[in-house]
Amino acid sequence: MKTLNERHDYGLDLFLLSIDEGITGYRDDSLETVRRNERQYGIPLKILSYQDLYGWTMDRIVATIGRRNNCTFCGVFRRQALDRGAAMLGVDKIVTGHNADDIAETVLMNILRGDVARLRRCTAITTSSEGAIPRSKPFKYTYEKEIVMYAYFKKLDYFSTECVYSPNAYRGHARTYLKDLERIRPSTIIDIIHSGDSLAVKGDVKMPVQGTCSRCGYISSQILCKACVLLEGLNRGLPRVGIGKATGGNMSAIVKKYGLREEEEEEKGEDGRRHHGGGEGEGMERRKGEMGGCGSCTCDSKKRTCRDPSTLLDVTRPDRPEF
Ligand code: SF4
Repeated sequence: MKTLNERHDYGLDLFLLSIDEGITGYRDDSLETVRRNERQYGIPLKILSYQDLYGWTMDRIVATIGRRNNCTFCGVFRRQALDRGAAMLGVDKIVTGHNADDIAETVLMNILRGDVARLRRCTAITTSSEGAIPRSKPFKYTYEKEIVMYAYFKKLDYFSTECVYSPNAYRGHARTYLKDLERIRPSTIIDIIHSGDSLAVKGDVKMPVQGTCSRCGYISSQILCKACVLLEGLNRGLPRVGIGKATGGNMSAIVKKYGLREEEEEEKGEDGRRHHGGGEGEGMERRKGEMGGCGSCTCDSKKRTCRDPSTLLDVTRPDRPEF
């Protein structure tokens, strides 16, 4: 982006945004690379941590919930953290490092999960919803191997450690399957993206209606956004709230089952307005002003490093060189 910006005189003000999930042996190391990149490229860097935003690190979440499903927390929190960071920076566009491999994996994952809503939008080169900062994927048609080769031959300073929690991630299975398919049919990745682009959803399929989270005010199709439900579960000692299959992933059912809605109602004052401060402490008060939307976790990986698609040209990963 920096090279293109200078070469073509785009006039863009670029920022680097990194999220520190609090994963010892992974993100702590990678942030050192990002800090070097800040100096090398002369682009200001902002780092936001899960600890500061949510009061939890991924190490602590994994210690609480175990090594299955932890990527759900990480992906949801990171997506929202990126939105918050982008809002803090005052940018009008988020540019992520999704490459063709990432997008094809996401198409497969959404098919396997039967997630029609995400399937419909996951191949869009720019996604935007009302009130959210648009996200672009300039590497949509660029293979991961091409990016890695570019970074290697250009001698870019990048980070290549695998996340210590990635071996159990769902995306890893989609990735392995994709690589097997690619051996049989080399054009598989682009073919799958083309399929995703061409898919049409029948008119009578019910799609989620977008609203805002009643707690943090961010975009959500449910009463509470997924990040708030997951966080509430963690803080209540019920970490499986929001990831269990018992409720079929229906957030409204989860909210009802665990009394989260009732809690919200109790927070209404005598004047009928909602008051968020009670019982949530300073952290929630602080978060209210910063949060910028609830997304969905699409970040998992089995091999290499975390491959979260919602990362802003994260130069900490080998497939995310900044150029
Ligand atoms: Fe988070 Fe990615 Fe590691 Fe999963 S693999 S814990 S989503 S950094």
